[in-house]
Amino acid sequence: MNSQSKIRVGVLGATGAVGQRFVQMLQGHPWFEISALCASQRNVGKRYVDACNWLLRGDMPDPLRGCVLQEMAPGIDCQLVFSALPGGPARSIEAELAAAGYIVCSNASAYRYEPDVPLLIPEVNPEHVGLIDAQRRQRGWQGFIVTNPNCSTTHLVSALHPLHEAFGVEKVFVVTMQAVSGAGYPGVPSMDVIDNVIPFIDAEEEKMERREPQKLLGRFDGRGVQLADFVVSAHCNRVPVRNSHLAAISVAFARRPGLEDARQVWAEYDPLPQRLGLPSAPRPAILYRAETDRPQPRMDRLSGSIPGMTTVVGRLRADPLFHMKFLALGHNTIRGAAGGSLLNAEFLVSQGYLKAERPRRALYRFSP
Ligand code: NAP
Repeated sequence: MNSQSKIRVGVLGATGAVGQRFVQMLQGHPWFEISALCASQRNVGKRYVDACNWLLRGDMPDPLRGCVLQEMAPGIDCQLVFSALPGGPARSIEAELAAAGYIVCSNASAYRYEPDVPLLIPEVNPEHVGLIDAQRRQRGWQGFIVTNPNCSTTHLVSALHPLHEAFGVEKVFVVTMQAVSGAGYPGVPSMDVIDNVIPFIDAEEEKMERREPQKLLGRFDGRGVQLADFVVSAHCNRVPVRNSHLAAISVAFARRPGLEDARQVWAEYDPLPQRLGLPSAPRPAILYRAETDRPQPRMDRLSGSIPGMTTVVGRLRADPLFHMKFLALGHNTIRGAAGGSLLNAEFLVSQGYLKAERPRRALYRFSP
């Protein structure tokens, strides 16, 4: 696909932690090209280089430095917007754009729990895009909204999905150790978090316990999603790690598997986005590390063929209270945010929701 035939996309909240990841991940993307960057009113009209404190490795992409930040309103020159907005402003802005015909791939929590809005991880619940038709019909929107889950739920559910398919998850106990970048920029004050663990993240446990895993692993019956029937108990903690969330997970199943059965299920996991060859679908989707002391944030957060998109699991062992326990690690601003949204958009293209001229399986060299 040459540059003229790429799908034009905008980034809402381009100056923030997740917005910058979008900008980085969209460089050299084979199907999408950035045609608009947007930020809050205080930055509209400024050049990206002047408004954005670039936090990622390497420089701000050269062609975007002089890009003038736009208002988030109909009229933006693109087909699809990636939203990295806080939940509050996302509510009205995303709806206005979807009503006007834009496809909105959102990281925000504003629409995640609406019954007609897909909460999507394409490896886990690709059939939930079936909600889109009802969403457009009921709301009278020309476009639509698709969301991705919270960054800690993403890796919990990604690790559980093949186990749930094989053995039926019944109970989950999870303790998270979450990176400071999960709180956005500037996020948690350094004076609070260095040499410390903060045992509270606003609204996080509620999302992990009641709102997201059951919808993600729920069954789409042609009209709506029947929530999966299992319970989750979550303890969420902020730790002095820059990027990636680590979760210690104990699980009980309807049919108790042996440890080797679980390892085999992970090893054989080959979900739809990988089979479709979507540009951001990592191989493997789930990486099992056999060492006694892995996964670790510093060593494993950029694992996989698309760095930061793979969920890394390890330390699988029997659990005296539940059936088994293990650790799962994943990058929060890549797979847990911008990369998750980007893969959702690629999946929508593959399913014909966006018109692209001959999307192809080009090699994609994202380098964080
Ligand atoms: P952030 O660093 O605080 O960035 C927020 C962005 O939204 C900035 O670009 C900001 O623009 C813009 N913004 C703030 N208030 C606005 C308003 N009233 N109207 C319009 N724009 C506004 O936050 P973040 O960490 O990138 O998170 C963005 C979204 O992704 C949130 O919904 C968050 O929950 C979700 N998320 C984050 C992570 C993560 O790991 N960080 C993971 C998953 C999901 P200005 O610079 O112009 O103020």
